[in-house]
Amino acid sequence: MKEIILVQRLLQPGEIEALDHNAIPRLLLPQPGSLYTARAERLRQLAANNIKGIPVDEALASYVALMAELVQAQAAVTATLLPAGIPLPAQEAMRVAHEHNMPPLPGTGTRPAEWRKVFAAILDQLDVTATRVPALVPALAALRKLTEAELEGAADAILGEFAEGIDPAHAPFITAALQVTWSVMAAQLDERWAQPLTTGTLCPVCGTHPVASVIRIGGQSQGYRYLHCALCASEWHMVRVKCSCCEANNKIAYQGLTDIDADPIAENEAAAKDGKTIHKANDPTRVARAETCDECHTYRKVFNQEHDYNVDPLADDLASLLLDMLVSELGYARASGNPLLRLGSAE
Ligand SMILES: [Zn+2]
Ligand SMILES: [Zn+2]
Repeated sequence: MKEIILVQRLLQPGEIEALDHNAIPRLLLPQPGSLYTARAERLRQLAANNIKGIPVDEALASYVALMAELVQAQAAVTATLLPAGIPLPAQEAMRVAHEHNMPPLPGTGTRPAEWRKVFAAILDQLDVTATRVPALVPALAALRKLTEAELEGAADAILGEFAEGIDPAHAPFITAALQVTWSVMAAQLDERWAQPLTTGTLCPVCGTHPVASVIRIGGQSQGYRYLHCALCASEWHMVRVKCSCCEANNKIAYQGLTDIDADPIAENEAAAKDGKTIHKANDPTRVARAETCDECHTYRKVFNQEHDYNVDPLADDLASLLLDMLVSELGYARASGNPLLRLGSAE
C-alpha cells in the first residue's frame, strides 16, 4: 500500500495508467503519416463496391472515388509536414486551456495561418490528379479564386459548425486542409495536455464532434469503442451502448442494413445462456450499424473492426449513406455531419 501511494506521488496520472496494463487507453492520438494513405485506399475499395457490409451504389461511388483523390492529396501533403511542420500553440496557451478543462488545440480558437498553405498544397497535388479526373478542373479553378478573407470565413463556418457561410461544393476541400493541419498538431501532442472534458461527446484534443464511432481490436484497445474526431482524427474512449450525443444509455438500439437490433456483446451473452452459437468475427452484416437513441432521437454509426479489420470511421460513414436513409426514415436525425459531405444548397 505504501508503495502504491509513493508511486502516485512520483508519477503523473497518465503514467500511472501506463503502468496498469489492464487500463483502457482513453485517448488514441492520430497517426497522420499512415491515416490518410489508409483512408484513401479504403475509399477506393468502397467506391469499387469491394467492401462486404457496406454496399455503395453507382451514384455515390463516383463521389466516394473523388474523395479518395482528395484524401490521397491529404496524405501527400501530410508527408511533407511531419513531424512538426505545423507548430503547436505556445505552452502557456495550452496550460491555460488545461487549467480550465478546455481542449489544448481548440478548433474554434485562433487558427495557425499555416492552414492556408496546406490548402494551397492540396490544390497543387490535385492539379496532378486532374489530368486523370477532368471533373476536378473547374472545381480547382473555383477554389483558387477564393480570397484569404473568403477562405477564413469558410473555415469559420466549418469549424464553428454554422449552417451558412460556405459553398457546400467547396467545403470538403477546405475541410481537408483543416484536418491535415489539426492532425499534424495532434500527433505532436503530449496526451497529458488533453484531459477528459466535462462532456464525453466532444474531442478532448480539439473540442470537435465525432464523425462516427469505431470498435477497435488489437493491443489494449481490444473490443473497446472509440469516438473518432471529425477534425484532428484523435479517438477517445466511450463505453459501448451509450448515446454519443446525449450520453443516455437507457434507450439505445442498433440498426443495420440487415436484421440486427442489439449490441453484439449483449447478444452473445443472451445466446450463450440459451446454449446457442455465439456470433463469430468477420461477419459483414455487422461492419456498419447505426446506434440510435430514443432519448434525443439522434444516431451515429458504429464501425466494427472485429468484423472488418480495415474499417475507417470517416470513410465508412461517407460510403454508408444507405444506412443514413434507412435510419432517417425511422425518424432519427444525424448527430453531426460527415466532414467530406456537406449537405445544403450553395448561397
Ligand atoms: Zn479532435
Ligand atoms: Zn441520445
